Amino acid sequence: MSIQNMPTHKRFQDLTGQVFGRLTAISYDGMVENRAAWVCRCECGQNVVVLGKNLKQGLTQSCGCLHREMLKTSCVTHGNARLGKVTREYQTWVRMIDRCENANYKDFHRYGGRGITVCERWRESFEAFLADMGERPSDDHSIDRFPDTNGNYEPSNCRWATKKEQANNRRSNVKHLVNGQMLCVPDIAKILNVPESLLYKWIRRHGSEKGIAMADGYEERKAHAAKNR
Ligand SMILES: [Zn+2]
Repeated sequence: MSIQNMPTHKRFQDLTGQVFGRLTAISYDGMVENRAAWVCRCECGQNVVVLGKNLKQGLTQSCGCLHREMLKTSCVTHGNARLGKVTREYQTWVRMIDRCENANYKDFHRYGGRGITVCERWRESFEAFLADMGERPSDDHSIDRFPDTNGNYEPSNCRWATKKEQANNRRSNVKHLVNGQMLCVPDIAKILNVPESLLYKWIRRHGSEKGIAMADGYEERKAHAAKNR
């Protein structure tokens, strides 16, 4: 384990010694995508690295042992995993949470490590997840964050899709009509001088047309706001 110097700015919060569920923060472990990471000791004896944000929001409360225990209990109690036959929907749900919250999970850096989260409704209940998503249509389908592949796992941004559908809809490939031209978001963002992430957010929230209209004039609104501050 490398020893990292803690940032000295005022807003930085030293979490050393604080307890979050089964985890106790023991040392600062540097920044991951601009967010502080902490080495935590779990009650079960495992050490894990967790983002401070996830600790403070209660999203991560153990090294993963809590989740594994929950899984065992749920397998027995809820119908979708009756008799130990865990359904694919259930596996999807478990892995989705792991990707976002278990720093030891192999793909964590592409999900939780980048601040991607599972909405509270789904985090708390497999049944809610299943009710929103429905059953997986076929073995070819997996969960797809759509339209924003960088967005969170939540009902408005998830669907079952085949690998082919997912590849076709990588968000940077999706084209939108702007002034009679079909353009992808990275190009529109450049033309309108708007951060790409903001444009994706607006399009997701308000649809293509209104989202792009909001981006148009963004610079002027920003300058105007700055002047009136
Ligand atoms: Zn543990």
